[in-house]
Amino acid sequence: MVQQFLDTFVLIQGWLLEHIVQPPLLALGLGSYLEVAFDGVEFFLYGVLQLSIAYMLLRPLEHFRPIERWPDRKAVRVDVLYTFLDRLGIVPLAVFALLSPLFLHLESWLRFHDIIPPQLEDAFPSLENYPLVSFVVYLVILDFAEYWRHRLAHTFRWWWALHAIHHSQRQMSLWTDSRNHLLDDLIGGAWFALIALCIGVPPGHFVGLMVAVRIVENLSHVNARLHFGWLGERLLVSPRYHRWHHAVDLPPGRNFRFGCNFAILFPIWDRLFGTQYLGEELPATGVQSPTLAAPAHADHFWAQQRDGIAGLVKAVKATLGQAPR
Ligand SMILES: [Zn+2]
Ligand SMILES: [Zn+2]
Repeated sequence: MVQQFLDTFVLIQGWLLEHIVQPPLLALGLGSYLEVAFDGVEFFLYGVLQLSIAYMLLRPLEHFRPIERWPDRKAVRVDVLYTFLDRLGIVPLAVFALLSPLFLHLESWLRFHDIIPPQLEDAFPSLENYPLVSFVVYLVILDFAEYWRHRLAHTFRWWWALHAIHHSQRQMSLWTDSRNHLLDDLIGGAWFALIALCIGVPPGHFVGLMVAVRIVENLSHVNARLHFGWLGERLLVSPRYHRWHHAVDLPPGRNFRFGCNFAILFPIWDRLFGTQYLGEELPATGVQSPTLAAPAHADHFWAQQRDGIAGLVKAVKATLGQAPR
């Protein structure tokens, strides 16, 4: 069955490439981009697959066990747009196009200076024989890096101005995971690429399993009464766990300065670094900001992009104003 699925996948990929992508590329004299286009089509198809699974599993949950019922779902629509742009490859493609020249430069500079970034497989050659173990090791390292990226996005005022767009959604649903300011996506992409360069993530090796990771990320935003039990809540980020990260008010009785529950996949990082809150209630989501709570912001993609940049400029100006002369 798996083989049948893979065969069909490759057939569709080949058809799309041959009939839809290749003709315009060749007509424009861009034949050298065919390899990138091949990867792009693969990314697109995995995106379609991942979203279909997430939708089929999670939408019924939102329907039958909702935390909140919204008479008007208009504010959700913009998150659907973010999700399609992100999961089907438009935003990642733009991020890749902007970053790849930079990283090619960086790689050739490192090579020129005889600096070879350490790779995990060199340090532990036996990892090569156990692809699943190797995947888990990479996943844990990348999730650790993601925890810190996310925590810093809440700590620096300029970065928070961008990340606040992810948090400004008051109707949080399975679609909210991809709701990110485009500049935040670019910084996140650079962060990920740097870590990947340092630990030598094998390219294209884990695409199938990344589908599973993305489903967990959609699940953690779902508008459904769901938790994973005493042990599960400590092992994998659940909707209730991540909801506390999105809570409009900080948890009572705890002194979290920038928020809690920053982990993307594994709650262990919050536990280790003192940012964990295991509340049983299901709080309201959003941010305390008159601009970001305004109706003009709620369901407008470009208004959100503009508000993010305006917030960033304000934060930088405030920081420069405070700096000693
Ligand atoms: Zn956050
Ligand atoms: Zn989130």
